[in-house]
Amino acid sequence: MKKFLSLALAAVMTVSLAACGGGASKEGSKEGKKYIIATDTTFAPFEFTNEKNEFVGIDVDILAAVAEDQGCDYDLQCVGFDAAVAALESGQSDGVIAGMSITDERKEKYDFSEAYYDSFVCMAVAADSDIAGYEDLKGKTVAAKTGTQGADCAESLKEQYGYDIQYYDDSSLMYQAVTTGNTVACFEDQPVMAYGITQGNGLKIVTEEKENFSTPYGFAVLKGENTELLEMFNTGLANIKANGTYDEIVAKYTNAE
Ligand code: GLN
Repeated sequence: MKKFLSLALAAVMTVSLAACGGGASKEGSKEGKKYIIATDTTFAPFEFTNEKNEFVGIDVDILAAVAEDQGCDYDLQCVGFDAAVAALESGQSDGVIAGMSITDERKEKYDFSEAYYDSFVCMAVAADSDIAGYEDLKGKTVAAKTGTQGADCAESLKEQYGYDIQYYDDSSLMYQAVTTGNTVACFEDQPVMAYGITQGNGLKIVTEEKENFSTPYGFAVLKGENTELLEMFNTGLANIKANGTYDEIVAKYTNAE
């Protein structure tokens, strides 16, 4: 019995470790189709590798709960935000769940699920920085993450405030650029930055863009494609909201110390 348990545990660990490499499989499909879903690499608390080396987060758990509710199979591939969107566009993935903001511009290319989380862009600086707002950025370099709303926000203010933008593909590298002093500030989604600060990322929030860069997150498929997948996601999301699973998932990642 003990031996069986440790074997079973080893099998579970292989699956969770594989999540960030080649993708984790979830069995139990009714229809036999396995969807490929692309996500970001480090975007805690939505997707990240925890201290046990498991790939976890609100998006990861929502997807798992929705798939279980709908009885569908998927491979989750964590490739980075910009790469996830590119994979969707090139047909290498069927869907994206990556704290992806539902914007009007994106709606021209993608179909989004119902919104599942509210967010807006903020700017953060090193905890000991004197920079208190955009006026202090003249002649300086800020960091932004390729292909994101944070980057759009940084671009929209760039000329007015006279700063340069350095791009990163990964949120954690972007934060490091600020803490090491390579850049003086970064633009990130507020729920992600607020969580990172509680985890000791060494930054502080100085501005919030609630007016122009407030957009909820949705699950995305290519426009007009995979409509059955989008329907499953919406139905599954409604079910896990109704039965309390959604609230449990959010609480697990936002109340935990
Ligand atoms: N919410 C932002 C966007 O969709 C950032 C997403 C991310 O970095 N994973 O642009």
